[in-house]
Formats: sequence, C-alpha cells, structure tokens
Amino acid sequence: MKVIAICNQKGGVGKTSTAISLATYLAMKGNKTLLVDLDPQGNSTSGLGLDKNTIEKSAYDILLHLANVQEAIITTGIENLSILASNINLTGAEIELVNVMGREYRLQKSLKDLNDEADFVVIDCPPSLGILTINALTAAQSVLIPIQCEYYALEGLGQLIKTVDLVRDNLNQGLYVEGILMTMADNRTRLTDQVISEVQKHFSDKVYKAVIPRSVKMSEAPGFGKPIFTYDRDSSAAKRYEEFGEEFLERCCKSLKTNELGGDDDGKERLGSGVVSADS
Ligand code: ADP
Ligand code: MG
Repeated sequence: MKVIAICNQKGGVGKTSTAISLATYLAMKGNKTLLVDLDPQGNSTSGLGLDKNTIEKSAYDILLHLANVQEAIITTGIENLSILASNINLTGAEIELVNVMGREYRLQKSLKDLNDEADFVVIDCPPSLGILTINALTAAQSVLIPIQCEYYALEGLGQLIKTVDLVRDNLNQGLYVEGILMTMADNRTRLTDQVISEVQKHFSDKVYKAVIPRSVKMSEAPGFGKPIFTYDRDSSAAKRYEEFGEEFLERCCKSLKTNELGGDDDGKERLGSGVVSADS
C-alpha cells in the first residue's frame, strides 16, 4: 500500500484537484484507491459528488478514534475508488487532539486497519501546516507538492520543505518528496516559463514533465461533483492529468523495483499500464 500526501500550505494551488484527479486515474487503471479528505472544507468530498452534510462517519471520527476506518469508507461511483470523507467537524480535531499523546500518529494507525486492502491512499491536505497536515505527513511514504505557476508560487515552499524534514527526522523516517506538479499554467506565458524553470532549479528532476494548464473545465468539474476524467475526458486538463498519472506510476514502479518492495505478480500488474511488465 502506497500512501501519498498532497501538500502545500498555500490555498488554491490545486491540491484538491490533483488529489481527485490522481486518485481517479489510479482507480481507472485498476488500482484499489482510497482518497482521504483531510481538509475541513471537504472539497474532495463534494468534488466527488458527496453531500458534506450527510456524511455519517468522516476523517474526524477516524482521528478521534470514534470509528474504524473500514466503517467510515464510502464507495464512489467510480470503480476501485473510495473516499474517507470530511466536513467542517474536522476543524474541531485540531483542538481536541492538543493534549492527546501520539496525536501525530492517529491517521497512520487508522490506515493500518486497511490491512493493505488499498493499493494507493491519496491524502488531500488542508492549507496549513497544523496537526492535520502533520498526521498526513506521518502516515505517508511520500509527499507530492502542487505549485501554481504564479509569481509568488515559491513563497512558503521553504517552510513546507522544513516541515517535511522535521517530520522525517522526528516522526516518519522514510518520508520523501514524491514530486512537484506545476498547476494552472497559462499557456506558457513568460511568467509561467520563468516559474517552472525557477522550480526546476531547486527541485531538478523531481518536477513532473506534465504541466497542468489553467482550464475552465477544471474549475467547472467540482460543481458537477465529477473528476475531470468523467466531466470532460477530452479537455486539455484531463489529458495533462493523464500524462501526469502515467509519470507518477512510472516513478512509483521504479522506486518499487529499487526497493524490492514489488510483492506478488498480481500486485505489480495492478500498478498499471504495462509500465512494470515492459522490463521486469
Ligand atoms: P487547493 O486544494 O490547493 O485549495 P483546488 O484544487 O481546490 O486548490 O483549486 C482551487 C480552485 O481553482 C478551485 O476552484 C478549482 O476548481 C480551481 N482549479 C484547480 N485547478 C485548476 C486548473 N488547472 N485550471 C483552472 N482552475 C483550476
Ligand atoms: Mg483543497
């Protein structure tokens, strides 16, 4: 089971859009995937067409140990994709966990109850570096950072990397940066190009080749409760998110092989699209 936290403490950079798109892509490729909505705003929850107000058991109940993860998971209309939903209740978790021992490990512990029933867990983080994000980073093997192609995009990135380092040093030894995804690119204006090359200077080959364009379809899709792949498969955003998904799986397979964590053949196959079988 591979757990990825989609993280950037800036709001509106495309975390939720990326979490929904990546989780949907992985599920469409035949991988059992769980999307964890760890943002009290619940945008991943509503973005998949669920009504935030009628959620019975949510990420809040998991973090407060009021429910088992198996009870709280909701299946979606997309095959292989389920969600641990969130709503505004989650705001309370931050305060209620203040005096709890081991509060950083709450999500990690709960995800163990999945007993590897999921191939991938994608965590959509809130726009802060508080205890919710720390729980995500502690539960994850890697962190994926979406960065908006805007002038101030790099602001706060140092703080984020510092937090990742702190979590690695103190709570989750193996944590690494999975990759950087450039989002909301404006048809390669000079600013977009400048920001991309600036980010490449810092993160070199961690930056995905696929760049997500700014697209009206992307902003419309959540209103219809649909991932971009079912809202408009032929849109440029869907195509770029698909390319990103391919790149993501390719890198995953590489790191799986290097770490010899491959597991059984069946497991390898589910990682998708012949990327492994080509050279294994
Ligand atoms: P975050 O989770 O980081 O706050 P979101 O994914 O929710 O970011 O994106 C912020 C807003 O921008 C949302 O309204 C979303 O629909 C919209 N959006 C996301 N990606 C794109 C894109 N590539 N093009 C246009 N709008 C986008
Ligand atoms: Mg969000």
